[in-house]
Amino acid sequence: MKQIQGTSYNINDDIIGRITFGKNIFSRSNEILVSNNVDKPAFGYSATITSNKSVVDNSKPYCIVDNTDSFHEGDVVVVNNQGEVIFVYEISSNHNAIMATERCNHRCIMCPQPPIVQEKDKTPFNLKLISLFDKGTEEIGITGGEPTLIGDNLFVLIKHIQKELPKTAISILSNGVRFADKEFAMKLAKCHHHDLQIDIPLFSDIADEHNRIVGAKTFYKTIQGLYNLALFRQRIGLRIVVHKQTYKRLPQFADFIYHNFPFVSQVAFMQMETTGLAKENFDELWIDPYDYNNELREAVLLLADRGMKPYIYNAQLCVLPEDIRSYAQQSISDWKDIYLSECDGCLLKGQCAGFFASNKEHHSKHIKKVEHISNDISC
Ligand code: SF4
Repeated sequence: MKQIQGTSYNINDDIIGRITFGKNIFSRSNEILVSNNVDKPAFGYSATITSNKSVVDNSKPYCIVDNTDSFHEGDVVVVNNQGEVIFVYEISSNHNAIMATERCNHRCIMCPQPPIVQEKDKTPFNLKLISLFDKGTEEIGITGGEPTLIGDNLFVLIKHIQKELPKTAISILSNGVRFADKEFAMKLAKCHHHDLQIDIPLFSDIADEHNRIVGAKTFYKTIQGLYNLALFRQRIGLRIVVHKQTYKRLPQFADFIYHNFPFVSQVAFMQMETTGLAKENFDELWIDPYDYNNELREAVLLLADRGMKPYIYNAQLCVLPEDIRSYAQQSISDWKDIYLSECDGCLLKGQCAGFFASNKEHHSKHIKKVEHISNDISC
């Protein structure tokens, strides 16, 4: 999440609020005023953020930051007593998500955000957060950790989104293990959400391989979870992170998916984000994406030829073979998406996913700006 550092005053507990520049004169108690034209914290708002360093007040909460350029009317932030301003919702982003929990029952070798063992229940915070989101939000992710570890509170969150944001789509990222329990899968179906997709990572067609990568013996539970979700007609996406330990069998894996999970609505092949455990295990995982192009291409075309929907996430278009570029998606969250100097002047920059900021040092050696696009294969 995007974060800026300031200095906070009169803030003991975290304050969450919707950013306003003062346009809304009602319901100020849920809003945080951003203004550089104040000489003291404004009345009625949950806090004030300003770059005016001469503000002094002994009672009302406020935070002084270097500049206020990063804020937009409708963003939602948390301000804490260390002066951190954390953007938990960005109005201009298509990748907003709530973190249901930071706990997980897997420990994937390439996890970008290693799980923690214990935490305070995040559900009350998340319920408040959802109510602050803009009503026009197109999609909200529910992620983790493993979101199903919060049990039935997952359905409480879904129903709250339904109530507060009736038009908003939901995308849940889960390892699927909990859905091996048919009753739990049925509870998801009983939410009757109009536009919900559950994305489940699977890393191999071989149980031991998958289990080794996720650090748990759960392959068959995930498979059972997939079948239970299909039984209750839930929309499912599969996710495969491609790295040194998964790329060789991509074609066989794609064939396995076609034969065993013809009901999934999409299959996403994802380039790895080299942060968290992926950074720690870098030598065992890193392969130049250019070097797995043959396997990726075969897997993508095998699924596409058989009427399934493959996608490629987090990839750089200049590295991909031209005939599979059209499967690539703009998939990296805005706040961590960057381009390199090699991208300057590239004709595909507007369509290309770019790079995870954490991959700045570790990227393909084959990045080269695209200066010509052939008509028959443009993205
Ligand atoms: S040069 Fe940069 S913007 Fe262009 S396709 Fe490659 S990675 Fe994408």
